[in-house]
Amino acid sequence: MARRLTAGRVAHLRTVARIQRRLQPTLHSGLVGLGQLLTPAEWLAAAVVRIVPSSFLARLRERLAALEAELVRRLVAEALAETLLEQTSPDELARLRIGELIRQIEEEGLAAVRLQLSLIADAGMTPEAIATIGQATGLTTRQVAQVERARRAALNAGATEAAAAHTAGRVRRRLIDQRAKLIARTETVRYVGDLVQERGEAVAAAGGRVERQWVSARDEAVDAGNPIGPCKRNDDGKRRSLSEVFPSGHDRPPAHPGCRCLLELWVDG
Ligand SMILES: [Zn+2]
Repeated sequence: MARRLTAGRVAHLRTVARIQRRLQPTLHSGLVGLGQLLTPAEWLAAAVVRIVPSSFLARLRERLAALEAELVRRLVAEALAETLLEQTSPDELARLRIGELIRQIEEEGLAAVRLQLSLIADAGMTPEAIATIGQATGLTTRQVAQVERARRAALNAGATEAAAAHTAGRVRRRLIDQRAKLIARTETVRYVGDLVQERGEAVAAAGGRVERQWVSARDEAVDAGNPIGPCKRNDDGKRRSLSEVFPSGHDRPPAHPGCRCLLELWVDG
């Protein structure tokens, strides 16, 4: 008889929600902080020549190093408090995963600044445009463009520069909230998936016959309701070996940003 080695779906979703709540405020303040790396005078000088100031990268890295350390600390503390998993190396996995995340945020931050410079220049370098666009560094380039579109739309509708900046500021804050939440959830699911996989490999190395199964949250939000989305397809009730990939081609959750899926382990005997 095979028995399940990991927590069930409901306990998993509770765990994900708890770890996510722990990461989210740290990510949020970290992303907001990226919008304050350059002063308005520095933005203006840089927008004139459309060159990212040399001081920016150093400040970005310094800020991200602090964020990285704090995220690892939060993730590991929560994993150690987690009794469902009995993981073997939560520190190492947390450092690896958060390290990858930070590199991605750094890359996106640099791309955002380049876009911000051209948007500020195109907007005529008014103080309001500099303030509004300049604070958006913690967003993806698509989201930065979204903030500027909101500002332009307000201006086109007859709003004053100040009112348009206010509107765009609201959009920016909403997008930062969304991004912090999405990253927190995705990284939590990735981390828990890594821990479960590692546990499975440890049990297999000790001679256990281990299989794994993909379990989605099984509610209407899975794959945003798409009946042939990756998470629904992977949650096919089949148990597979620890190295066999799932129908979507993914090795383990997450299958997409915001995925809440769980890897269940089953062992014989
Ligand atoms: Zn999923």
